[in-house]
Amino acid sequence: MADPRDIVDIATLRREPEKQAPRAFLSIWYRCCHVYGRLYKNAAGTKYNGCCPRCASRAHVLVRPDGTTRRCFQAVD
Ligand SMILES: [Zn+2]
Repeated sequence: MADPRDIVDIATLRREPEKQAPRAFLSIWYRCCHVYGRLYKNAAGTKYNGCCPRCASRAHVLVRPDGTTRRCFQAVD
């Protein structure tokens, strides 16, 4: 366990948390490694991108006007 005396408070390194809108994301189940992850929407708002936290396999979901309202997906190999 960390010793609380090891903490040094340096005012210039303290930052207020920035107030930003929460980043849009989808939940995804990576079947390759049996783990959950998130896909984050790109700046253009055209798709959600992410990768498996274990093996870094990439996944993406396209955003389309006639698409689904589902928020959870499975990534298949
Ligand atoms: Zn994986």
